[in-house]
Amino acid sequence: MGARRHARDPADGSLRQRLKERIRRHGPLSVADYMGACLSDASGGAYACRQPIGAAGDFITAPEISQIFGELLGLWCVAVWQSMGEPAAIALAELGPGRGTLMADALRAWRRVPKFLERVSVVLVETSPVMAEAQRNTLQDAPVPLNWCADLGQLPSGPLILLANEFIDALPVRQLVRRGDVWCERVVTLDADGAFAFAKGEAVSDADLPPAPDGAILETRPAVTELLSVLAARAPLAALFIDYGHDETGFGDTLQAVAAHRFADPLGAPGEADLSAHVDFVALRRQAEALGLHCYGPMLQGAFLLKLGLSARRDRLLQHATPEQRAAIMSSTTRLVDPRQMGALFKALAFTSHGLPPPPPFHPGI
Ligand code: SAH
Repeated sequence: MGARRHARDPADGSLRQRLKERIRRHGPLSVADYMGACLSDASGGAYACRQPIGAAGDFITAPEISQIFGELLGLWCVAVWQSMGEPAAIALAELGPGRGTLMADALRAWRRVPKFLERVSVVLVETSPVMAEAQRNTLQDAPVPLNWCADLGQLPSGPLILLANEFIDALPVRQLVRRGDVWCERVVTLDADGAFAFAKGEAVSDADLPPAPDGAILETRPAVTELLSVLAARAPLAALFIDYGHDETGFGDTLQAVAAHRFADPLGAPGEADLSAHVDFVALRRQAEALGLHCYGPMLQGAFLLKLGLSARRDRLLQHATPEQRAAIMSSTTRLVDPRQMGALFKALAFTSHGLPPPPPFHPGI
């Protein structure tokens, strides 16, 4: 380390500069730490400092595509509350609520169900101050109590319904790479030119890890384990996770960067692109079941939304729409359910505590 390199306080630099400095001083970063910094670093992370969702941002999500998405999820909450025996107070938590659009649309649906509206209080679980501000703006006229917290552990006790859309994909993913017959941490380091590069890190000893061919990459999400153990301790509970990912566990690198709606290099511009990775629904379900949660799905998003009544709601909206609005309603709803668009890549997985019936639209055996 030369004196010149230390002359400038690295805390003043861009996230790129600070991460490079960190690697030079302390060695390579795990992929999970790199991803966590790119998304959540307090002064350079994509969520912490910017608002990446929407047409003007990096990527678009289902609630931003059609109001029907949040309305149907809102009605899902009402049905689940009824299946709990209509408890007098129900906490409704949303994890990673983005711009607050899903919750605004759910609230619109609840206005037609006053008995639910009187009982519900909403908690938005959000770590980014920028996103929480966006949620406050969107939800300023909400007719129910709203609270924000940064951590699932701060949720009120009592009956809980939880929604999370595209939340898990944004939790840091850990990558392991197979070398011979050992798994090694996959890390981000600097190459000879000082650019970020992936490399093989230290060997990991974990008897639960499966064998795999040389070079295979295995992804896990440490934060999910924590999340599920908090949920498994709650009753009554119903939780719905919708995300993109696979319903067969496989090996491979799914870390991706999206900037201004185009795929980008995950190492190209830390904090300036959205980083995410596929959700492994099979692993998620297996982990949840091991903790005693009842699991339903994964069901393809297209089937899930159609069974919840997307077509009927769409047809109602079409009745009062102008020709331009009709075209927009048709294309946005198609985008959500068409298997060539979001209908098959995205999936829904629901969890309940013991003793509750299957939530809609799941039936025994699904
Ligand atoms: N659900 C929204 C936004 C998805 S983007 C939608 O569908 O549009 C992911 C969201 O999760 C952002 O709001 C981000 O700030 C938030 N987030 C990321 N990591 C988080 C964490 N560990 N705890 C709480 N919120 C988190």
